[in-house]
Formats: sequence, C-alpha cells, structure tokens
Amino acid sequence: MEERVIFSKDYCKSCGLCVRVCPTNVIFIGKDLNTLGYRAATVENQDGCISCGKCAQICPDLVISVYRPERKVATN
Ligand code: SF4
Ligand code: SF4
Repeated sequence: MEERVIFSKDYCKSCGLCVRVCPTNVIFIGKDLNTLGYRAATVENQDGCISCGKCAQICPDLVISVYRPERKVATN
C-alpha cells in the first residue's frame, strides 16, 4: 500500500487541528508518547486519505507531508 500522508511524529504537539480539518476523518491522536511527551497524530487508513493536503496546511509544526499516488500514464 502506498502511503499518502506521513507524520514526523516526534514534532507533533497533539493540538488536534489536523484531526478536525480532515474531510475523511482518517487522522486520529495515537496512544504512544513521542519524544516531546505528546500523543502524536497519525493515520492508519492510508486508503481513506484523498491527498487534499489540508492537514499539512494547517499543522503549525510542519509535521505532515502529503503525497499523491503516481498517475499511470498510458504508453505507445
Ligand atoms: S491529506 Fe486530506 S484526506 Fe489526507 S489525511 Fe490530510 S486532511 Fe485527511
Ligand atoms: S496539526 Fe500538527 S501538531 Fe497538531 S496534532 Fe496534527 S500533526 Fe500534531
């Protein structure tokens, strides 16, 4: 499975903004503490992400990178 959204979890401060803004509700606050002592936001259901980029735009700590799957281009 291709990952669409990746979190640099050790920079997350658990503010929850990304959770609120995600239109498909795939982001949640995880259980484990990161190195700053916060429970980091994460996504398990990568297929539920539509690569809209809203989470990456709103995150004040630049934790999130969003990717779009490569389009298959017809050849010859
Ligand atoms: S890119 Fe959009 S759909 Fe994907 S996790 Fe972020 S807010 Fe949700
Ligand atoms: S917006 Fe950024 S800092 Fe806030 S919970 Fe999401 S990933 Fe963490």
